[in-house]
Amino acid sequence: MDVIKKFLIMDGSALVTVADTRALTERARKLHDLSPLATAALGRTLTVAAFMSLKFKDKAAHLSITVDGGGPIGKITVCAGYGAQVRGFVENPHVDLPLNAHGKLDVGGAVGHAGNIRCVTDLRLKEPYMGQSQLVTGEISEDFAYYFTVSEQQPSAVAAGVLVNGKGVKAAGGVFIQPLPGCDDYKLTMLEDIATNFVNVSCLIDEHGVDGIIENYFSHLGMSDTEILFPRYKCVCGKRKIDALVNSLPEKEKAEILDERGEIEVVCHFCNKVYRYGREDVEDLKAKHKKK
Ligand SMILES: [Zn+2]
Repeated sequence: MDVIKKFLIMDGSALVTVADTRALTERARKLHDLSPLATAALGRTLTVAAFMSLKFKDKAAHLSITVDGGGPIGKITVCAGYGAQVRGFVENPHVDLPLNAHGKLDVGGAVGHAGNIRCVTDLRLKEPYMGQSQLVTGEISEDFAYYFTVSEQQPSAVAAGVLVNGKGVKAAGGVFIQPLPGCDDYKLTMLEDIATNFVNVSCLIDEHGVDGIIENYFSHLGMSDTEILFPRYKCVCGKRKIDALVNSLPEKEKAEILDERGEIEVVCHFCNKVYRYGREDVEDLKAKHKKK
């Protein structure tokens, strides 16, 4: 089962989040028939999104992320809601490239870095917040570290990784370290030092799990009580939402599609569920809507 553990270290000088996201990444892989490379790129982004959603206090809060680097994977779209529920897809799920110079999946090459991260966060407090930053490497972790620093004014060490083998996702997860107000230069240097341990975070998750990572790297640093969450892949589409969407199409457009194909078909990009509406269904929706 996927899990996220969150705690303070060094007398509240920094917030640490350690996430195991293997199951949700595997679910994304199966849903979208992702290549190993696409699995790594989407899995890393889903892991970051799960982490970002931890700040939600309102059950209706949500965020959406677009990573658009101009590479062969196309755009990566990921959404997250309250309780670390995430969902996402990539434009080219079968993207494949040779391994990079380090013998690893070339996520940076697939994503590209001639573009940006865009993120819309709706905390349900006031207007949604829109943030944007340039991509740095396309490897996702560095890109979000930069995004948090320039767009959300929260410097953060980000390490998100996915380990794929012949059977599927062997391990996935991330470690996030955020200095808080009051963190002095000495502690900052210590944090930077600790962060260098997580370059191969997916292997660490595979070998030690979340608890092993906490034990090995953080337990001696004066940890606060740990908050535990269970992230998962969950789509939020449903018949009522799609009904409303179909009903809101212009009459002319509905008539044209029905004349041409005999039905209106809507496919959810996040879970690939297909919703079909025949001529009668469309009329029913219209009648129902008018009654309200
Ligand atoms: Zn769906």
